[in-house]
Amino acid sequence: MLSFFNISNELSSLDEKAISKSKPYFEQIDKVTEYNQLKVLRAFIDSRVSESNFAPTTGYGYGDKGRDDLDAILAKIFGAEDALIRHTFASGTHTLTVALFGILRPGDKMLCVTGRPYDTLIGVLGCDERTDGSLADFGVEYSEVALDENGRPDYTEIEKAVKEQSPQVVYIQRSRGYSLRPSLSISEIEKICKTVKAISKDIIIMVDNCYGEFVEQKEPTEVGADLMAGSLIKNPGGGIAPCGGYIAGRSDLVEKCAYRMTAPGVGREVGASLGHNRELYMGIFNAPHVTGEALKAAVYAAALFSEMGYDVTPTMDEKRADIIQAILLKNSDRLIAFCKGLQSGAPVDSHLTPEPWDMPGYDDKVIMAAGAFTLGSSIELSADAPLREPFAVWMQGGLNFHTARAGILMAAEQVLNIK
Ligand SMILES: *Cc1c(COP(=O)(O)O)cnc(C)c1O
Repeated sequence: MLSFFNISNELSSLDEKAISKSKPYFEQIDKVTEYNQLKVLRAFIDSRVSESNFAPTTGYGYGDKGRDDLDAILAKIFGAEDALIRHTFASGTHTLTVALFGILRPGDKMLCVTGRPYDTLIGVLGCDERTDGSLADFGVEYSEVALDENGRPDYTEIEKAVKEQSPQVVYIQRSRGYSLRPSLSISEIEKICKTVKAISKDIIIMVDNCYGEFVEQKEPTEVGADLMAGSLIKNPGGGIAPCGGYIAGRSDLVEKCAYRMTAPGVGREVGASLGHNRELYMGIFNAPHVTGEALKAAVYAAALFSEMGYDVTPTMDEKRADIIQAILLKNSDRLIAFCKGLQSGAPVDSHLTPEPWDMPGYDDKVIMAAGAFTLGSSIELSADAPLREPFAVWMQGGLNFHTARAGILMAAEQVLNIK
C-alpha cells in the first residue's frame, strides 16, 4: 500500500489492526462465496450455456434463446419457479415498480412490514402525497408497520395488522437503505413469511431484495417469499451488467410482471437483448465473488473506522444481510471529506471532486462518491451521504477488496485531517 499511496504512519497502523481484526470474518465470507459460486456454476452447466446464448437479437426479439435461458438459470439460482432478467429495467426502482404494478389491482391493499420503504419508492406508492400515476392514483391502499425500537420486525404488530387489514400484498425491504436499522437476515425474512402465511396462504409476500443477493446462502424466494426484485448495478450484476434488473418468484406472479413489463397478452415473448446477454451472463457468473469482495470491504471499513473512534453499523462482528456499511461521522465536514477521499481512490474519475446536490427522488442534499466503470453502480466502491442527522455515510461495493481497501484508506486519511 505504502509504495503506491501516501498513507500517514498513524493511518498505516490503524490499517494493520483493522486487517488483522477482519481476517476471521473474511473466512466466513469466503465460505458463503464459495457455496454461491458453485450454485451458479451448477446452474450454468445444467442449462448447457454455450456461445450461441450470447447472440444478439433485434426488433421484437422473438425467440431470444439466450434471454430465455438466463431467466431459467436465474430462477434456479434463486430457488424460484421463474424469473425475468432484463437490461431494459432502467433501475432498481423501475424493476420494483413493474413488479408492484404487475401484482396489485385497484382496491387492493399493500402492507409494508419493515417500516418506511426506500426513498425512491415513496413516489411510486404515492403514500405521502398522491404522485401522478402512483399506486395510490390507481386505487391501491398503502399502509405500513413500523419496526420495533431496535429496528427489528415487530412480529406482534405485523400479525395484528395483517389480521385487521387483510392485505393482498405484504412487502418486505431486506436492506437498510438510507436508514440505520439493521438489514433483515434470511431467517428474519423466513419468520415474517411464516407469520403472514399462518394468517392467510393467499397473501403475496414481495421482497425488495436490493443489496441482499448472494450475501447469504439462501435468497428470500427459498424461505417463503412469493416474489422479489433487485437491480443489476448492485450485487447480481457482478459489476459487469451495464444496467438492468430482475424479478424472481412464483411463475403466475412473474407472468403478471411480464405483462406489465411489456404489454398484457404479449409479456416476455418480446424484448430484444441487443447483444447484452453476454454481459448479463458474465455478471451473474461473477456476482457471488464480487459480492464477497464488497462484504470484505464493508467489514474492513467497519473495523478501521471503529479503530478511529466512530460508531459503525453493522459492527465488524455483526451478521450481515446486505453489502452496506454505515459510518457515523457526526458532521457534514467529515461526510464531505470521506466522499472526497473515497473518490480520489477510485479507478475512474479519481481527479473529480464530489459536491452535495439535490438528487431526484431524495428530500435532502446528497453527496456521493462514485468513481465507477458503470454510472451509478453501487456494487463498485461508492458512498452516499444525505446531509442530515445523524450525519452518516453509507458505503458499499468494491469490485475487489484490494482496491476497495485503498479507497477506504484515502477516505480515512481525509477524515483524520479534519480535527
Ligand atoms: C437501490 C435500492 C432500490 C432501488 O434503487 P435504484 O436507485 O432505483 O436502483 C430500492 N430499494 C433499496 C433497498 C435499494 O437499496
